[in-house]
Amino acid sequence: MKEACFRRQMFRSVLIHLPIIACLATGQWHLALIVFGITFVVMTYGILSPGTRLFGPVTTHIRPPGVLITIDDGPDPETTPVLLDLLDRHQTKAVFFLIGDRVSRWPHLAREIAARGHAIGNHSQTHPAHLFWLLGPWRMWSELADCQQSLGEVLGVQATWFRAPVGHYNAFTHPVARALGLRLMSWSCRGFDGTERNVDLVLKRIRRGLKPGAIVLLHEGRPGSPAVLEGTLQAVQAKGLKAVPLAEAGIYTRAHHKLSK
Ligand SMILES: [Zn+2]
Repeated sequence: MKEACFRRQMFRSVLIHLPIIACLATGQWHLALIVFGITFVVMTYGILSPGTRLFGPVTTHIRPPGVLITIDDGPDPETTPVLLDLLDRHQTKAVFFLIGDRVSRWPHLAREIAARGHAIGNHSQTHPAHLFWLLGPWRMWSELADCQQSLGEVLGVQATWFRAPVGHYNAFTHPVARALGLRLMSWSCRGFDGTERNVDLVLKRIRRGLKPGAIVLLHEGRPGSPAVLEGTLQAVQAKGLKAVPLAEAGIYTRAHHKLSK
């Protein structure tokens, strides 16, 4: 499966570079440079845009009017128990995108998340936040596959959804994910709570993006994580929206332009 996946990707890579190769072969150096520049700009846009479908299908919304709460970067011994109690109090089910290494380190927390009825997604094995978009095919495979294995060992099931660290991915991500039975989920609403410590500012941004069908991106493991989740759940209620479990969310995949369960 791994080799077939890489062969297909290598073939696609050659196809993408065919115009440049053709220009070079016919001695048109200036044209080759221009084509290379255009390819570079397009690829950079694809890498830096969390919801782009340049490399393949990415889910950014669910069926309105529901909203989907997603929480990245756990499990975390400080925040996971608090967030789980908060979600219970608001009778809300979320999707936790877990990091494989952290699942192996705190398996009881991963099991508790699943036991409370939340969905679990793959958020890579080591979360190489600043380098993920630069990974080659072999490391891309190990990041996704090792996390699947960690989840399987601890929970007895593997994830069906993957979220890229920081939302930046490259041309290798989709073929690897597809070969491992994973679909990519991005988001449509976020407050940058992964880096911003001002909870009021985070919640202001989240309220702005909170619309029917939104997928909300939150993080755990930060001092403000409980306050951000509490404020987000209150905002959902104040706007007359309802946070739905993943199993009840109609998934909207931009590349397919249709709703599917
Ligand atoms: Zn993350």
